[in-house]
Amino acid sequence: MENKKLIYLDNNATTKVDEKVLDVMLPYLQSEYANPSSMYDFAVNSANAIKTARKQVQEFLGADSDKEIIFTSCGSESANTAIKGALANNKTKKHIITTAVEHPCVMNVYKYYEKQGYKVDYIGVNSNGELNVEELLEKVNKDTALVSVMWANNETGVVFPVKEIADEIKKKNPSVIVYVDAVQAAGKVKIDVKNTKIDMLGVSGHKFHAPKGVGVLYVRTGTVLSPLIIGGHQERGKRAGTENVPYIAGIGKACELANENLDYELSEVKRLRDKLEAGILKNVFNARLNTSVSNRVPNTTNIGFQYIEGELILLHLADAGICASSGSACTSGSLEPSHVLRAMGVPFTSLHGSIRFSLSRFTTEDDVDYVIKTIPEIIDKLNKISPYQDELEALRNLKK
Ligand code: PLP
Repeated sequence: MENKKLIYLDNNATTKVDEKVLDVMLPYLQSEYANPSSMYDFAVNSANAIKTARKQVQEFLGADSDKEIIFTSCGSESANTAIKGALANNKTKKHIITTAVEHPCVMNVYKYYEKQGYKVDYIGVNSNGELNVEELLEKVNKDTALVSVMWANNETGVVFPVKEIADEIKKKNPSVIVYVDAVQAAGKVKIDVKNTKIDMLGVSGHKFHAPKGVGVLYVRTGTVLSPLIIGGHQERGKRAGTENVPYIAGIGKACELANENLDYELSEVKRLRDKLEAGILKNVFNARLNTSVSNRVPNTTNIGFQYIEGELILLHLADAGICASSGSACTSGSLEPSHVLRAMGVPFTSLHGSIRFSLSRFTTEDDVDYVIKTIPEIIDKLNKISPYQDELEALRNLKK
């Protein structure tokens, strides 16, 4: 990989660790290695690092108290803890509502509960990727134990109105637990749980410039939750295991930086994303935007290149030093078309040739200009070897 160009546009898969985050972590990987639960003076700095991080996360999420913050190992653990921990305390109600486009760390938990006899409603989205909120609210009934809705979709970036959804659910049935997977929202939109009726919410450090291996679960005071990992008293008994002090310090700092950079994300990262998107759509006749233009996080675009194969595009992009993705991080590498794009009814002609580009505050104007220049060359080459020459010709004439 030495000297090869690297244009990283796969920030919804994972992000670069911010150097300021690394600086905060390093002492706890080197000299400050004490177990934060120990009683001697040497452990005070470790314990304080966790206290500071908990406050930083509280501030970032707009939580009422730092006691509402539980550190986990990742977004998947946060989701599993929330869902399994809430359902363990509510054995009589057997109805769950979620969306058809959740991440597998939520979706596959519900597949498990279906096998245990639960009824799960998967609410669909329209062709722009927007959730059918009315249908979701209609499904809420006396037997509903839990509703979970992601804040922003990992493949399309489409944002769901989670605050309004939580408000309406609680009006219909105040006992329903509302879980929000905010893994792709953190750092890209303002999160303020205080002003919502969301009971639990999960984020993951590696999606906003902290390292992989640390996450957060927000649990509103009064929410009854059984721990997923049982053992010691850590995290107020909600998540056993010696705390990962350096990573917890890292996610705390990443939260502080995310708050500081939110305006930049909403203006500059969005401007670059819009420029990239417009450049591709203008210069490639068989490119098609897969989502709505509005209602998206500022860093993501998902574009279908009609009549060509996504994996081939990715290989050519990789050759040119461009990292992007053909689906979620978990499904890329498989030839199965994305469940999200299928749920949106993306036409067969672009389903297999859809590429997600996701930017970050480290993306530069030069990165975007290079991709705008390179993509038409790659697609032109691939169009020539597509088995759908007649269809491409028809499309070319249509766009003239
Ligand atoms: N939820 C969403 C929307 C995601 O995009 C991801 C990761 O891609 C996760 C959850 C899982 O997060 P983690 O990789 O930290 O387990």
